[in-house]
Amino acid sequence: MTNKALSKSMITFDAPALQGWSFPVLDVVGKMPGPRLAVIAGVHVNETSSIEAAIRLQRGFNPETLKGRVSIMPIVNLPAVPNRSQYVCPLDNKNINFSFPGRAGGTFSEAVADALLNWAADADCFVDMHGGDLCENVSHFTVCQTVGDAAFDQRNMEIARCFDAELIVRLDPSHLKAPGRSCTGRATRKQHAAFSEAGRIGLMEEANVEFHYEGVLRIARYLGMIEQAPPPRRAPQIVSRYLWLEAPQSGFYRYRVEAGQRVDKGCVLAIAENTYGEVTGEVTAPEAGYVLWRLTHALVEGQTHIMGLGVPD
Ligand SMILES: [Zn+2]
Repeated sequence: MTNKALSKSMITFDAPALQGWSFPVLDVVGKMPGPRLAVIAGVHVNETSSIEAAIRLQRGFNPETLKGRVSIMPIVNLPAVPNRSQYVCPLDNKNINFSFPGRAGGTFSEAVADALLNWAADADCFVDMHGGDLCENVSHFTVCQTVGDAAFDQRNMEIARCFDAELIVRLDPSHLKAPGRSCTGRATRKQHAAFSEAGRIGLMEEANVEFHYEGVLRIARYLGMIEQAPPPRRAPQIVSRYLWLEAPQSGFYRYRVEAGQRVDKGCVLAIAENTYGEVTGEVTAPEAGYVLWRLTHALVEGQTHIMGLGVPD
């Protein structure tokens, strides 16, 4: 272990698709040995509340009292920065967020997913922070991937509860079969992870920054790296299914619900109009649940996902 308390580096990876890219990383190195916590943000570069939380975290740990090491990479999707690309990496038009566990010989998104899991291979927990690309508003939620091993799943849920979430999405082990979020990629290796969502429409807002920032502090406390962290204030609702709701047709959409809101089965979530102001359709809740996120932009193409609905057991 280095004796430097703060270690700034530009890290590179061997994968062919990642040649020429250097990723800024900051390590806070505690004086005492202990666990390693790896934190990333900026898989989606417009989710600035989560990026700000990552940047702020370097000052959230005192190396004099920290046990172990906190490694922070505030921006993963560097190719998306110049044009503030939404959702995808512009080099391959793929969403890094659904590319884990990835592969070293793949395109940028697949290769960076694989590289990040290897970078964090010895980390006791990996945290991936998200929330609020340019056209959406998300609730305060976390995603917990389960694998079917009671001890592993319980610990992953305890980590998910470190965030002061409205909702926790508990993904069943069937998600391990397909490419998915970083927490799913970590779980394929039986490694723990947290995935946090808070933010909206590209804005950096204190309540959303705080959600991510304090959640990571609570994980550090949970791991025994620090003595104290702010107490959580909410009791989250657990949802076990994540439904992606599609716009039935193109139109000008008027949303009737907000992120975080509970909705009954059949509740009208959005009304579609044409440009003459005539109602052309509506989107209703297929089941009772909670709005994980919704689009904010009224102009919607058909088949676009306009909302995520979390459904309890
Ligand atoms: Zn995101």
